[in-house]
Amino acid sequence: MADLVQSYLDRIVAEHAATAEGALADYIPELAGVDPRGFGLSLSSGDGYVYETGDADIEFTIQSVSKPFTYALALDQIGEAAVDARIGVEPSGEAFNEISVDDVTKVPKNPMINAGAIAAVSLIPGASPDARFALIRDFYSACAGRQLPLDEAVYRSEKATGSRNRAIAYMLDSFDVLDGDPDEILDVYYRQCSLRVTSTDLARMGATLARAGVNPFTGRRVTNAAVVRRTLSVMLTCGMYDAAGDWVSAVGMPAKSGVGGGIVAVLPGQLGIGVYSPLLDAKGNSVRGVAVCRSLSAQLGLHFLSVPLQARSTLRASYDVRDGVRVYEIHGDLLFAGAEQVLRMARQQSGEFSAAILDVSRVDDINGAARTMLAGLGAMLQAAGKRGFLVDPDGAVVSPGSPAQAVTFTTVDDAVAAAEAWLFGR
Ligand code: GLN
Repeated sequence: MADLVQSYLDRIVAEHAATAEGALADYIPELAGVDPRGFGLSLSSGDGYVYETGDADIEFTIQSVSKPFTYALALDQIGEAAVDARIGVEPSGEAFNEISVDDVTKVPKNPMINAGAIAAVSLIPGASPDARFALIRDFYSACAGRQLPLDEAVYRSEKATGSRNRAIAYMLDSFDVLDGDPDEILDVYYRQCSLRVTSTDLARMGATLARAGVNPFTGRRVTNAAVVRRTLSVMLTCGMYDAAGDWVSAVGMPAKSGVGGGIVAVLPGQLGIGVYSPLLDAKGNSVRGVAVCRSLSAQLGLHFLSVPLQARSTLRASYDVRDGVRVYEIHGDLLFAGAEQVLRMARQQSGEFSAAILDVSRVDDINGAARTMLAGLGAMLQAAGKRGFLVDPDGAVVSPGSPAQAVTFTTVDDAVAAAEAWLFGR
């Protein structure tokens, strides 16, 4: 049977392949000498299935696509407060290699520009540069699902030509932002930029972020959801450098680019996308990479701020089983807004019933806010002289041992029987 997704992706790469705009990064010979025609696209689903098209097996250096991952590792290792003390989260609107710190705080404006990325390296624990680098490489590799190799030639060139980065590191040192020796930190930064990836590695790394820190391919939890949320936030606002606003508007996915030609884009909860094409625009973003992401987003509806039609409202049905006993069936993912709807409805209609049965057996997922709100519903009804009964066979709302278990049932019939018993006993 034909694979529609695969043929779609093949077609979209073919459509953009003719574009030859842009220029190779030329600050080191290794980047200036790559084949400009290279073009790979990989897409990982949230459950770890990867589609590949074009040159998905070409290895290139990760360069600045590394930045969100080292930032995530720093958050993971030393916590948000300690990281925030050294690196801001404000878009800079500046080029990636701008020699700058925030006017007021004197720390780098964000972790997606070189200044912030170098500061992030300095926050990674390790007794030596080798130990720091090992931690960084293992973290990226866990996200990619394979051990990423180091490009020694690129590393040597980065190190030999890195005056600008040295300027940044020494400036940071002068503001006491760096934890450690600037040259040692730079050495680790150059190595991190010189790790080799394919577009498929990037798609998998993106999917690990999309899955809130679990690599869907290996099943391994690499970091936690709070770290990922913060990382995606700065990718969204700062990931495409001074083109971040344009990118968010047109593509609407947290992303990061690198001068090696890679882009990683993440659709939270759903997808990781990796693209490779080494011809760059004036801002240092892959021309075909950006173009293909724009097309994917528009054609597949991937913009994360597309407002979905309220196709599935939280309330699936409501009916009276007998006089005074009303059943509310709710379904889907129950978050704050859905729980608010349920509470409001119960309040507005409370004159029409004595007992309400809330059937949550079809709820897929529920968050803490919604759980607290639904738990409060019982007390709210009781205060009004009524009773709430819950059908919650999977314990989505009421955890075992909670007092609400007395009014929690496995089936609607059981809840109805309890509601009737209460009515008669009144
Ligand atoms: N190694 C490059 C640098 O630090 C990475 C820059 C990038 O990919 N934007 O300048």
